[in-house]
Amino acid sequence: MRVKWKRSERVQIAVQKSGRLTDHSLALLKRCGLRLTRGAGQLLAVAENMPADVLLVRDDEIPGLVREGACDLGIVGLNVAEEQRLGLAAGDLAPRTVRSLDFGGCRLAMAYPREGSARCAAQLGGGRVATSYPRLTRKFLEEAGVEAEIIPFSGAVELAPRLGRADAICDLVSSGKTLAANQLDEGETVLESRAALLASPTEAPAARRELVDLLKRRIDAVMQARETKYIMLHAPREALRAIAELLPGSESPTIMALEGSKDRVALHAVCRESIFWETLEALKNAGASSILVLPVEKMLE
Ligand code: ATP
Ligand code: ZN
Repeated sequence: MRVKWKRSERVQIAVQKSGRLTDHSLALLKRCGLRLTRGAGQLLAVAENMPADVLLVRDDEIPGLVREGACDLGIVGLNVAEEQRLGLAAGDLAPRTVRSLDFGGCRLAMAYPREGSARCAAQLGGGRVATSYPRLTRKFLEEAGVEAEIIPFSGAVELAPRLGRADAICDLVSSGKTLAANQLDEGETVLESRAALLASPTEAPAARRELVDLLKRRIDAVMQARETKYIMLHAPREALRAIAELLPGSESPTIMALEGSKDRVALHAVCRESIFWETLEALKNAGASSILVLPVEKMLE
């Protein structure tokens, strides 16, 4: 393949190579218009249609790559970004979190063994907390005024209490199933997390700035479109006001005549929020029929 742009003009984007964020991150970039080619096992995916490359790396490497300027943008969990930010020396610039993305949701939370002596941080005094996030955990405990020993763990943190290595853990939770399976009860939330778009601490060099800004705008547009729905329905004219009020986050709807019907009309509207079954049922009760909810592929305002 012929690469049309100089290396210095190509925006470098760091993405997790294989893990929970990989599919969502690559799908987001593709929806932003990047046509990526990636051979099996390759660490670099080159965009064929614009000057951008995607580096596939371990998630823990992403904040460092962006901070050092080796990558202009990176997608990583806020949990990883914040843990590493706390480890920077005074005066070191951290990568900027420029967008909060709509996937990778989880929380860093304390958890306590069901049969243990401590059921919350206040009862931990002098105890041990196992975690892969020692800095965030220490900060939380300090702010709670609790003295405890941090036991750094790199994997399977939830086993630490059973192994007699800790009195509590601080780990990522999404459904809570792993905690329950290990007889742990979830406690205080230390950090609410989701995937974040990181950008280098200083502005991108002029040769790449335009594309970096364009990608940020397209990411906004993709997320906005994902939240947006197009709704179409038929309704009696006299119920229009009540129906318009039921539509979540919609501006003035379009009303169209229905051929052969005097008192029923068609209504089309763009809704900026999710439309739940309850809303559809309420619309129906208000007199609407033939209700269709369609996804929005792209939008630009
Ligand atoms: P790597 O090999 O890249 O170091 P990893 O094992 O550190 O991978 P994953 O388990 O793939 O990372 O998780 C990546 C990110 O997904 C987490 O840092 C977090 O932001 C997010 N995430 C969402 N839900 C969960 C969950 N239930 N457990 C762990 N991480 C979650
Ligand atoms: Zn990792």
